[in-house]
Amino acid sequence: MNTAPVRTDTLDLIGNTPLVLLEGPSEAAGCEIWGKCEFTNPGASVKDRAALWIIRDAEARGELKPGGTVVEGTAGNTGIGIALVANALGYATVIVMPDNQSQEKMATLRALGAKLITVPPTKFADPNHFVHTSRRIAEETENAIWANQFDNVANRRAHIEGTAPEIWEQLGGRVDGFTCAVGTGGTLAGVGLGLKARDDAIRIALTDPHGAALYNYYANGELASEGSSVAEGIGQGRITANLEGAPVDTQFRIADEEGLEWVARMLREEGLCLGLSSGINVAGAVALGRQLVADGREDARVATILCDTGFRYLSTLYNAEWLESKGLPVFDWLRSD
Ligand code: PMP
Repeated sequence: MNTAPVRTDTLDLIGNTPLVLLEGPSEAAGCEIWGKCEFTNPGASVKDRAALWIIRDAEARGELKPGGTVVEGTAGNTGIGIALVANALGYATVIVMPDNQSQEKMATLRALGAKLITVPPTKFADPNHFVHTSRRIAEETENAIWANQFDNVANRRAHIEGTAPEIWEQLGGRVDGFTCAVGTGGTLAGVGLGLKARDDAIRIALTDPHGAALYNYYANGELASEGSSVAEGIGQGRITANLEGAPVDTQFRIADEEGLEWVARMLREEGLCLGLSSGINVAGAVALGRQLVADGREDARVATILCDTGFRYLSTLYNAEWLESKGLPVFDWLRSD
């Protein structure tokens, strides 16, 4: 019998997530596609890992002291992870978030006891961008640290030391490809570096949404974007410190419509309710799987990240009116007519 683990510290519930074989994507790719179930973390997203590593690192360096405050700018999931870890360790949390992110994430942050500040969504160059606002608040707050998930490489260490070895062990030491989208780049770079350290032949792929600049960067060295995406938590326009040196072998660009189709299929065919970044990741994993098969690797094993729970997007991805307002296809079962 496979017994579920017993823990003596709630923070040990972060990570060691299950890996599941995805039937529909495997069939579509012609090889094995595996999903890392990050929605099973206590904060229901992959970002619990970065939150824990960043806070532990700040403690170890003596920057975060008892009674301190953790301040961060986030699309929401990192904030939720930080709030949970900070609660467990006795710290306060201040979160700055763009106000176009899902209501569910904001309600969750408030429920967890974080102080939530919302700002209009702006370009990174704007001094009022959520990242810069959070840095300023950290500087102005006594006994506070700025988590700085984009450029603090404790974020990607969570994946070098956690996610990558987990995937490697779970697949019995044979992995052929890995891909995911980028928010901070911690997951892609960290898992990429961690897997390459075990087998340099593993193909690492960027899966970029429209509106992000990294597809062009890895394809031709130019940070340039086209189009847009409604996916939350992904879509990067610069090379963050976490992305520097990421071992990217190939890249795919996935439209929201294709990601949404996989979100729908994951729910209706596999019983997994996920966010759009997961759907985009699955689409990228299928593309990578097909590429490996075309290169004669019919037995390829590709892994990707199922980043967060769809329950975080009931008012958006799973809401007919919202989908219509964005010009996106509405899932059949959401139609009232
Ligand atoms: N998906 C979701 C839903 C996220 O919130 C994030 C984090 N911003 C990501 C994917 C990307 O993860 P990373 O920051 O490690 O690139």
